This record gives sequence, structure tokens and C-alpha cells, in this order.
Amino acid sequence: MNIIKAQKSKISSVDFENLKFGEIFTDHMFVCDFIDGKWNTPKIIPYQSIQMDPSSSVLHYGQAVFEGMKAYKDDEDCIWLFRPDQNYDRINKSSKRLSIPEFPKEYFFEGLEELLKLDKDWIRKGIGNSLYIRPFVFASQAGVQASASNAYKFIIICSPVASYYSGGDVYVQVAEQYSRAASGGVGYAKAAGNYAAQFYPTSLALKEGYQQIIWTDANKHEFLEEAGTMNIFFRINDTLITTPTSDRILDGVTRKSILKIAEYLGIKTEVRPLSIHELISSEKEGILKEIFGAGTAVVVSPIKGFGYQNKKYILEDIDDSFASLLKEKIVNIQYNQVEDPFQWRYEVKTT
Ligand SMILES: *Cc1c(COP(=O)(O)O)cnc(C)c1O
Repeated sequence: MNIIKAQKSKISSVDFENLKFGEIFTDHMFVCDFIDGKWNTPKIIPYQSIQMDPSSSVLHYGQAVFEGMKAYKDDEDCIWLFRPDQNYDRINKSSKRLSIPEFPKEYFFEGLEELLKLDKDWIRKGIGNSLYIRPFVFASQAGVQASASNAYKFIIICSPVASYYSGGDVYVQVAEQYSRAASGGVGYAKAAGNYAAQFYPTSLALKEGYQQIIWTDANKHEFLEEAGTMNIFFRINDTLITTPTSDRILDGVTRKSILKIAEYLGIKTEVRPLSIHELISSEKEGILKEIFGAGTAVVVSPIKGFGYQNKKYILEDIDDSFASLLKEKIVNIQYNQVEDPFQWRYEVKTT
């Protein structure tokens, strides 16, 4: 790998106390080009703009996928990743669906390690502080032929994040018209276009006072599938329920880790489809205790209520929340505060 270091770090100009998610990026980036049928030698260079031909395939046909992961620093300044093998596997799974060539494992891990070595000062200690890592790959070939590109760029950029207070209760609207994904489609892939297609319906929900949408199945809008860009969990009585993965559901690392931890703690779990009718009837019976989203960015995001057919349902606050218990457990593993019975932590050697 070729490494060109930044001449001067930008870090002293960053206000770490007032970070907004994903706005500031570290000093370096990882870049690898796929040309002539193979991935070339990767490089790390100072963070910078990239030049693209206006006819670049990605700008016209959206052939692009990405990942989201985090690096954490413990009390001894050791740096940890959380299940990075899962992100590696998933970006290739996403790539395959979008007809993008698989990325070599050694490049992915060397890239991450070298990048984190160079930019380690950007990771602050303390629970909630972390470095958000965004690997992505896109079709870079010039030309507007509607077919898979012959050239790609794989890039990794990093952005410091702090724990932030979300500013109040989150309400979600159950989708009755729009869909995020359909069977046979690309819902299970972290494909760029999936997110673009969410912005408009989400903006409509926002106008009606909901921060996010609970996506339902595209056929009948009956089964609850995901919460915005997160996987979704429900607690009915003391059972934790989540939707099974399928080609419409993103196979989240947080989701599968939460399921494992819940089982480890002796919480009863069910992986099965849950309908809006069951949600409403359990709310009416008073046995719907919690709803929350799960994903790398916020780990666990409690949902206070939901809207369906112009009616708003509001959950009561509870003391022994599964959402906070599971969040604490997973975060403690991520920040090396406790034993890691599942061997999920991955140490990044910085010396
Ligand atoms: C990334 C993502 C998730 C969460 O995945 P994690 O691996 O837990 O971060 C869930 N749903 C969608 C649609 C996503 O894009």
C-alpha cells in the first residue's frame, strides 16, 4: 500500500464538543481503483476531493454501495472495531447484488488498520465518542451505457462522532403507501439508491410530526420491516421480537448482536413477522412495552409512539427498559469495558 501523509493535521481546528454527525472528516482517506479487471494497489492519501467525469456511471445509474462501522477507544488508548468481518462480508454481498466486483479482504483490513493508525488522535475516549467509518464503492467508468461499469473506486473515509442527545421523543409513522424495498429487489443491500428513495416519504412524515417511517412490506403494507435506516425491535410483554432477515431487510450487525445478547441475558426472543394489527392490538391491551430501532450510528433508538391511519399511539414510559439494558451491554463490549463472551471485538494495533 502507498501512503502519503497529510502535511498538517486539521485536528486542532475541530470542536469535538459540538460535532454534528458526519460533517467533519479526518486527515486521511483510503482509495483503491478497479481498472482493467482487477483491484490495483491501494493507497492512503490526504483527505481530498475526487475528480470525476460527468458521464461517470454512478452519477447516472447509481451503481454504488456503502458500509457504516465505528472505531472505539478504551481507557488505555487501545482502539477497537466491532465485528468488522461482518461489514466486510456485507459490503461484498451488497456489491454482488449491484454487479460490483468483490473487494479483497486483505485490502479492506489493511486499509482500515493503516487509516486508523494515522488518524488515531481523532478517536476520543469516553463512552459515546467514536470514529464513524464509511467504506463505499462506486462505478467510476466514464460513459452513459446502461450496463455494469468496468471501473470502480473503493474509498474509506472517517468522521469523528460524539454521543449526542437526540432532543426528545421519537415518533414514527407506519408506511401505508411508500415502500423501502420489495421482494427480489435490493433492500438487503446497502445500496446508495435505497436511501435516496427514502428521503421524500420521510420528508412527508416529518411534516406530519413523525421523525421516521416504519417501513412495511410492499405487498400489503401489513408487516413491520424496518425503522427508517435501522432494524426494528418490539417488546410485547417481556418477549423481544424482531423481523426475520430476507431480501427486503438489511441484515444489521447491531440487530444480530442484540439478539445474541438478549438470549445470553435470558430474555425471550422471537424472530418472526409482526403485523400492524398485532402491534395495535397489543398496544390496546397494554402489553406493547417498547419499540426501538437498532443500528451502528445510534446503537439503540427508543421509539415513543407510532402513527397509523391518522391515529397516534403513544407508549408509556417504563423503568426496566430492554432498550437501555441492551444498549448498555453492547456499548460496554464495544468500548472494552467488560469481557467479550462472543469475541466480537477486534483490536487495531497502532504501534
Ligand atoms: C445499515 C442499516 C441498518 C443497520 O445495520 P448495522 O449493521 O446495525 O449498522 C439497518 N437497516 C438499514 C436499512 C441499514 O441501511
